Amino acid sequence: TAKGDHSGVVVTTSGAHDDTDRQRLTTLEELRAGLDHGELILHYQPQMEIASGAIPGVEALVRWNHPTRGLVYPDGFLPLAEHAGLMGRLTLQVLEMALEQSAAWRAAGLDLTVAVNLSASNLHDPALPSYVADALTRHGVPPAALHLEITEEVLMRDAVRATRVLAELRATGIHLAIDDYGTGYSSLAYLHALPVDDLKLDRAFVTHCDTDTRSAAIVKSTVELAHNLDMRLIAEGVENETVLDRLREWDCDLVQGYHLSRPQPADRLTTWLQQRRP
Ligand code: C2E
Ligand code: CA
Ligand code: CA
Ligand code: CA
Repeated sequence: TAKGDHSGVVVTTSGAHDDTDRQRLTTLEELRAGLDHGELILHYQPQMEIASGAIPGVEALVRWNHPTRGLVYPDGFLPLAEHAGLMGRLTLQVLEMALEQSAAWRAAGLDLTVAVNLSASNLHDPALPSYVADALTRHGVPPAALHLEITEEVLMRDAVRATRVLAELRATGIHLAIDDYGTGYSSLAYLHALPVDDLKLDRAFVTHCDTDTRSAAIVKSTVELAHNLDMRLIAEGVENETVLDRLREWDCDLVQGYHLSRPQPADRLTTWLQQRRP
């Protein structure tokens, strides 16, 4: 399957063994070519509001449509992109595709927010906020329809710089979410300082919260924390109905996970959304 097809993408900095070196150069060339030739595509995973069953938005997840390896998942090339300084370009391509799709959905009467993931290097680019604002205008997408996700780990690595860039993005009306919440070097200080809209609780705490009492305790107290800070809690990795039932009882706001839908190409998601409508 596609998941196993990207073992050739290797990131090593030590050892400098000939074979490994050659392999890395090859795949780096391939990735550059892939970026040049538009081989990156997006799949979209819906987010459901538990109380209403409505789908207010989707998350865009990048895949590499590799000419010989097939579909390569992010774990197979994002580390290389980051290592090679290509994340800036990659993110701009992802943003363009996500906003183009968002505009198409809006034109078709589907009022969806689209969430795009940012990486550490994006937050080092002081031009990012003005680029994003310009891209929104070009595509005619209102800022509130764009959600940007930043992992807690990235946020903590460079809190001061991140806070500046994120505050600027938020000032233009874009929504921000903390991703993989609970897995980073958690500090409540940034929650206190940062104007964030959503907390996305990592699936490590969600997937088994129907059977694991410690996970359950973490979910319940994180819902309370989010609500006390006027944030919404999004639970990731919901894989079955009993987990969804618990999350509903505990007043969680939104869910994302295989139980609802796997990430899928935009046209298939559009069909899925239309079939859900009453
Ligand atoms: P993430 O942002 O935490 O995205 C959620 C990941 O969990 C996705 O994996 C998704 O397919 C998977 N997932 C969703 N529901 C379930 C579930 O019920 N169970 C399980 N086991 N997994 C589920 P994916 O697409 O392989 O992406 C992996 C990571 O790569 C993402 O984690 C994100 O950190 C990164 N990523 C993906 N697209 C982009 C992008 O465009 N830019 C950047 N910077 N990072 C991206
Ligand atoms: Ca994410
Ligand atoms: Ca996540
Ligand atoms: Ca993750």
